[in-house]
Amino acid sequence: MTIIKAQKGTKDILPADMPVWHFMEEKANEVFSKYGAKEIRTPIFEATELFARGVGDTTYIVNKEMYTFEKSERSLTLRPENTAGVVRSFIENGMHRLSMPVKLWYKGPMFRYERPQAGRQRQFHQVGVEVFGIKQPAADAEVILMAVNYLKALGLNDLSVELNSLGCPKCRDNFKNSLKQVLKPYLGELCEDCQTRYEKNPLRLLDCKVPECQEIFAKPEVRNVIFSDFICEECAEHFNALKSYLDELKITYSVNKLLVRGLDYYNRTVFEIKSNNLGSQNAVCGGGRYDSLVKNLGGEDIPAIGFAMGMERLASLIGKIEETKTTAFVVSNNSAEAIKLSEELRNNGISCEFDFSNKKFVKQIEKASKTAKYAIILGEDELKTGKITIKNLETSEQKTISKDLLLSELK
Ligand code: ATP
Ligand code: MG
Repeated sequence: MTIIKAQKGTKDILPADMPVWHFMEEKANEVFSKYGAKEIRTPIFEATELFARGVGDTTYIVNKEMYTFEKSERSLTLRPENTAGVVRSFIENGMHRLSMPVKLWYKGPMFRYERPQAGRQRQFHQVGVEVFGIKQPAADAEVILMAVNYLKALGLNDLSVELNSLGCPKCRDNFKNSLKQVLKPYLGELCEDCQTRYEKNPLRLLDCKVPECQEIFAKPEVRNVIFSDFICEECAEHFNALKSYLDELKITYSVNKLLVRGLDYYNRTVFEIKSNNLGSQNAVCGGGRYDSLVKNLGGEDIPAIGFAMGMERLASLIGKIEETKTTAFVVSNNSAEAIKLSEELRNNGISCEFDFSNKKFVKQIEKASKTAKYAIILGEDELKTGKITIKNLETSEQKTISKDLLLSELK
């Protein structure tokens, strides 16, 4: 019979990987709670329209990467990201009535039909934060701080923060027009995707990785437009204020004028955090401000800013964390006594297993030493005398004590 395998681009997270995942999840709760953020869990599938409207139907994600299916004549999609879902929930649950800011964080699987490669899966996980209700740049600074401090709590260094401002719809339109104008003579030479972007969303031309397009963007007259200060006075003020907050907080960053991010909903601040130890898929965190998304999805006019991090990429930076061993392992050929003693220990807060095999004690102890800290030996002699032999499996020290003292000894 053929063996059924996990689908391309998906991976099992095995017990040996779990300590790292628990670590990432616990730190997320710990760090984001310090800022007053609350966890939210939204469904894994949503109406396709949510992403078409929320993420933007000119984006790569929506056009090429979504897992969309039909059920009872409804078009549904496995979430490719979680901002749209969180915003939907914010609106649907009337969270605009809460006092602002509303700070939410999430973790969970996302689905994108991409070409699997190192650092890129079709089912992957993100942990992220969304902060609603504050338009002032201090919120941008706080959200970036949350990201940076989370990464620090994971023990990750050697990361760099990149920032840009995409301006507001007003100043961005001027920029889009200048960009289209300067690129017009080269339109035929741009890749097919860029030709669509040129019409539908010229800003994202800058995101193109095709070398021929990059060459065109490197032409002096094109660079002049890309690197021009196109943002309006108010947007510039916002960006400058954010930078001075970060300076004061001693968060190192660099401004990257080519940073436009892959999603449609951003305005003003966008940022990415990259690792210098990840190879080509080096972005661990992407985020930005999305002041019109809540309104665009039918809610009130509420500004927001957030970020998402790729947990597989974080996990590979964290490396291996040893599994914790169980405390005790009962070595015995009397299953009835072994199961009773094991349960008594568990009821007293001590993790414990026993051997079901009735193998020779040396074999049982050998097995115990792989998974447990102490072997509790319950042989014929011990059973007769009411004593117990406890063996430290790391140091091999052992002593025989009265059974009543076992708990205090283990604790
Ligand atoms: P990329 O440029 O790597 O495709 P993106 O802009 O599509 O990133 P976002 O939508 O901003 O990514 O998602 C935030 C983070 O989620 C990324 O920085 C990355 O760490 C992670 N991520 C995105 N797509 C994948 C994927 N297919 N597999 C694993 N991690 C991913
Ligand atoms: Mg992508």
